[in-house]
Amino acid sequence: MLLRHTHKEIRDRSALTTNPAKTCQPVGALYAALGVHRCLPHSHGSQGCCAYHRSMLTRHTKEPVMAATSSFTEGASVFGGMANLTQAIENIFALYDPDVVAVHTTCLSEVIGDDIPQIVKSATDAGKIPEGKTVIHANTPSFVGSHITGFANMTKALVEYFAEPGTVPADRINVIPGFVEPADMAELKHLAAEMGVESLLFPDTSGVLDAPMTGRHEFYPEGGVRVEDLRTVGGSRATLALGAWASAPAAEALEKKAQVPFEVLDTPIGLLATDRFVDALRRVGKVEVTASVTRERGRLVDLLADMSQYFYGKKVALVGDPDPLIPLTEFCLTLDMKPVHVVTGTPGKRFEERVRGLLGEAGVEGNVAQASDMFHFHQLIKNEPVDLIIGNTYCKYIARDEGIPLVRHGFPVLDRVGHQFFPTVGYRGAMRLAEKILDAFLDRIDREPDEAAFELVL
Ligand code: SF4
Repeated sequence: MLLRHTHKEIRDRSALTTNPAKTCQPVGALYAALGVHRCLPHSHGSQGCCAYHRSMLTRHTKEPVMAATSSFTEGASVFGGMANLTQAIENIFALYDPDVVAVHTTCLSEVIGDDIPQIVKSATDAGKIPEGKTVIHANTPSFVGSHITGFANMTKALVEYFAEPGTVPADRINVIPGFVEPADMAELKHLAAEMGVESLLFPDTSGVLDAPMTGRHEFYPEGGVRVEDLRTVGGSRATLALGAWASAPAAEALEKKAQVPFEVLDTPIGLLATDRFVDALRRVGKVEVTASVTRERGRLVDLLADMSQYFYGKKVALVGDPDPLIPLTEFCLTLDMKPVHVVTGTPGKRFEERVRGLLGEAGVEGNVAQASDMFHFHQLIKNEPVDLIIGNTYCKYIARDEGIPLVRHGFPVLDRVGHQFFPTVGYRGAMRLAEKILDAFLDRIDREPDEAAFELVL
């Protein structure tokens, strides 16, 4: 109903975003910080910002997301947030005893120009940071970038603060997973383990934001990468950075700091992107692809072959973050579907080049846009209707207005469960994704045919 007045005519807009296809940088920084064991994220800005960041992540993961705030009021807005952050650091260590406090800035503290390293240094000099504890930071102004760049900035900060050059070489591969679900992070570790490759994932929200109900509240759940492990990432054989937007900056920083070579791969969503990840594990880990991984792949191929007639020729519109959207587009093409609209809110011209390249190779004509919004996405659909939308919860308004099935994927998914427990990366994840797409088509077939066509299918 909200979008009923969206019109078909597309005009150039340079100074207006309507219904953004992204959230703000600190959301991603907070998510990355939660992937460190015994880390308390801290939002340097107003309580309102922090409440929004926490609520987005809490509603998406259905887990209590902890974060502190500098609680800016008018005084901090005028005179700067040094006093607030210094007091916050003292309180946080006294009350919550984290090993790490991960500070991210907000729009307001960036506009004021607060110098976080300088504030942390003076807090250190004043003895407010206990021995063995660390305060790290990332600059995450939200008038540029998105939650994806926020994730990338905080992940890079993990390297800059913790990685120690000259660490004893380990027969191990770093994997930077990107902004994916806790279940996806667990699946990446599963694939590496199945291949016999020792991996270190950072950040790692598995075991933190999918922690089991035990009847006892654990302020710091078992999961997350340990600080002592982060200190040794500079000794790993190589880094696999999954996603050019979310993971490449940290991998580049680690190469610069500790000469660890890296490869940037697509997030392993779908058959081909997972093949490339498995192949990278094989090459870099110097192992053979195991029978168990081959079996996982075989089951996926079997499912796709069995159901290919239902996917063939279907038009799909995709909206979300650049790292998952690229392999998702590729996966849709693998399924013989036609991704005719592919839109991300995160800026980056390389996104358009990559997606256009994939569409061009497949001979599919499509609209591709970066730094765009949901309004534009809706207009594209009005001009060329599709059989399916793949995107986050906010797509439900477009889906209802246009009468198009929606498969929820990406961030945030507020009105469904399962994404935190069931991966969409890897071969097993691709099976789930294919199942969800298939169900959307088959449910529609069951819902909308005339009596004569209402038959048992499959
Ligand atoms: S003011 Fe900036 S940092 Fe705060 S919630 Fe809004 S966009 Fe995010």
